[in-house]
Order: sequence, then structure tokens, then C-alpha cells
Amino acid sequence: MDYRCVQCRFAVKTLFVQYSPGNIRLIKCENCKYVADEYIECTLCCLILLIDLILHKPKAYRHLLCNVLHQDTLNVEVKIVFYYLILLWILI
Ligand SMILES: [Zn+2]
Repeated sequence: MDYRCVQCRFAVKTLFVQYSPGNIRLIKCENCKYVADEYIECTLCCLILLIDLILHKPKAYRHLLCNVLHQDTLNVEVKIVFYYLILLWILI
């Protein structure tokens, strides 16, 4: 399953290349030449992502919907809870 660039939604094969444990390089999008998903780097410190979600930045929502929740690594129940929370967030 392909990932999506959070800037332009262009399909990318992977979001990063890991050279060694803890040593990764983020992939640039072939279409817009920006980093495809800079949020993948801050998996432990989700504060930046949370702030960008509060500020309604589209790339934060694209990261969450296209590159996290859309992957097969999460089970269906977790995806339903996330989608429900995002829907509640939008409606409030
Ligand atoms: Zn792009």
C-alpha cells in the first residue's frame, strides 16, 4: 500500500529510508520536491502534530488519514475510534 505526500497527496512508495537503528532519512516527494511526510519523524513527540491538528493544517490531517490510519498495521477497531474522534473534532 502506497503512502501519500502530505503536501500534494502524490503517492510515494515509502516515507523514509533507515540506514541503521535511529538513523533515518526522510524521502522527498517526486512531484512537489518537499519532504513527503515530516510528521513521521516525530512519532514520540506528537505535540507538533497535535498543534497542527488544532490549527486545522491540511497536511496534519493527511498524515493522520493517509499515512497512519489508512495502513494495514492498525486493526479495524482502532481505525473506527480514530475516525470517530476526528469526526467529533470537526463537528465541535
Ligand atoms: Zn508532494
